[in-house]
Amino acid sequence: MATAFPQGITDVSDLDDVGRILATLPMATLVVDASAAIRRSSARAEALGLVRRDAVTVDEIRELVAESARTGEVRERELRVRRPPLGRGMLDLRVVVTPLSGGNYAVLVADQGEDRRVDAVRRDFVANVSHELKTPVGAMSLLAEAILSATDDPDEVQRFAERMLKESARLSTLINDIIDLSRVQGDDTLARAEAFDIDTAISQASDELRTAINDKDIELVVSGPTGIEILGVRSQIVAAVRNLVANAVNYSAAQTRVAVTSRVQDGLVEIDVKDQGIGIPSQDLDRIFERFYRADPARSRGTGGTGLGLAIVKHVCENHGGDVKVWSEVGVGSTFTLRLPPAPQVRDHASDLESTHIEEDSA
Ligand code: ADP
Repeated sequence: MATAFPQGITDVSDLDDVGRILATLPMATLVVDASAAIRRSSARAEALGLVRRDAVTVDEIRELVAESARTGEVRERELRVRRPPLGRGMLDLRVVVTPLSGGNYAVLVADQGEDRRVDAVRRDFVANVSHELKTPVGAMSLLAEAILSATDDPDEVQRFAERMLKESARLSTLINDIIDLSRVQGDDTLARAEAFDIDTAISQASDELRTAINDKDIELVVSGPTGIEILGVRSQIVAAVRNLVANAVNYSAAQTRVAVTSRVQDGLVEIDVKDQGIGIPSQDLDRIFERFYRADPARSRGTGGTGLGLAIVKHVCENHGGDVKVWSEVGVGSTFTLRLPPAPQVRDHASDLESTHIEEDSA
């Protein structure tokens, strides 16, 4: 999305007023004289490195000011320039120079790199989704052909039809995860936040995984003081806990233990999901929260993983102003910790709850 430039700030004579107005704009702004000497500069302009010793650092911007001074007209240009001061990275800038009264010029500079980076991430995601969708769809069409050519062999038809069901289940999991992810990315969390207790959110998440937990005979242990209230969007928190518990089950051997523990710590609600599973190699730990990143692609596909679960978890935490951390050791297990904002009354009673928890631990 291109940044819109305001029009018509041409008849203001008090430089301080102009500077104050410009500083509120969502872009870097400068007021300069005809020789491009700085009269006022915004924090963003300084941060972008456009100002050094009261001068504009970028030659192209100085030229644009000179053009505007010569013609007395507004000048606008897209520039790709070396990033000051060292000139290593590049900056994609859209620059507008507007003559002001008193021989000064307003310079508005939008950094377009950020928009381009967002566009690139979006394009990447669409390409990845298309690729991920192709696999189950291709498998289903091959299986349909196999069924057609095996019509006189009921056992074969049965076998192919079962595999087709599996592929369609995989497809619908993927589609649900894509919908979940786009929902948590677009959700206005602040507007929909309510106080709710995390016990029901944790039990809702584990109920939804009951079959997988029972199939692997996993012992699910939920502990912590009851009644801790969180301030957030319930469906998002349930989705985050569900994805963590699903992973804990998927990446663990049968008959192991998965523990979900909650507590109030430093004024935040913390939820641990701990397993005794295969663990995650340290070189993958930084990347597992990326969309479609899998430490072990074959195993992830085998368990019906989409590669989106942890991206959903990360977004949910960010939406709530919280975070997610992971500790893991190959062959020992993994612990994921969510930190989320408490409901106001929990914040007030945080110290009470913490002491309750310590007593429970030592009991
Ligand atoms: P997936 O659908 O593949 O499980 P996620 O985004 O949920 O995708 O997780 C990304 C990757 O992180 C997984 O493919 C797996 O390699 C690793 N991972 C996540 N959770 C665990 C866990 N509890 N134990 C071991 N590996 C895990």
